[in-house]
Amino acid sequence: MSARWPDMTNEAGAGRLADRVCVITGAASGIGRATAERFVAEGARVVAADLDGARLETLAAELGGAVLPVVGDVSRDADARRMITTAVDRFGRLDVLVANAGVIPLLDVTEASAADFDTVMAVDGRGMFLTCKYAVEAMLGAGGGAIVCTSSVSGVAGQARQAVYGPAKFVATGLTKHLAVEWAAHGIRVNAVAPGTIETERVAAGRTEPGGPEYLAKVALAHPMGRFGRPEEVAAAILFLASDEASFVTGAVLAVDGGYLAQ
Ligand code: NAD
Repeated sequence: MSARWPDMTNEAGAGRLADRVCVITGAASGIGRATAERFVAEGARVVAADLDGARLETLAAELGGAVLPVVGDVSRDADARRMITTAVDRFGRLDVLVANAGVIPLLDVTEASAADFDTVMAVDGRGMFLTCKYAVEAMLGAGGGAIVCTSSVSGVAGQARQAVYGPAKFVATGLTKHLAVEWAAHGIRVNAVAPGTIETERVAAGRTEPGGPEYLAKVALAHPMGRFGRPEEVAAAILFLASDEASFVTGAVLAVDGGYLAQ
């Protein structure tokens, strides 16, 4: 168990997600991992899905029996379906999906190829569509649920060097709004978080990429709070949107960005 959150898993029925069955994609790292840690601390049972089986096993070992790892690729229809059906088969229903898996290339439009565009759209676009699709189908059988998509400030506003990533994040924002309206009457809430730059391993790796340090130095200045965010700060916003405390919130895109989008 992470030291960052109180361990409520020993108290039966305790926590803001007590006994909720949750699927988190991209759970092996960064924002997804922090969300899995937080959800388990809040009493959830978590199906943790990711491409990276080794890191999922590490996560499951740390968090104990509340986490069920599923290795798969969200961009593949059969894998995305299996992430959701695992929750239903194992725990009887699905209450929450956090559609978070994504890749984050830093490319301007002259550097990006059609293959780059297709790769990012396959994961961040089609993968989010597929996991949301199968989650909605499962939630209809359970009488409702909550979906939280990880969008980005790049899914709300323009930014340099995001010529393929940014449009894919607009897919996340768009899916959120359209599915929210489509399923509101069926008890399914669909919201998004729009993080600013968050100190994950992906961002750390960016510091060694060509143009990465310059990009990060520039983007740091665009965060009025004068710092990047932490994965657990995004996890806290995802928790709110996934929980009953957000019972009248649907179609929202919640900025978690140190004021980036307020400018
Ligand atoms: P990360 O690289 O730390 O974690 C992403 C995880 O997704 C990894 O564990 C990776 O293995 C997994 N993944 C990648 N492709 C996958 C696939 N096809 N199928 C299943 N799993 C896959 O990145 P992160 O920074 O935690 O990003 C998580 C989400 O947050 C992404 O959707 C990203 O676009 C979004 N986001 C990140 C930032 C940021 O600054 N870090 C800002 C805004 C939005």
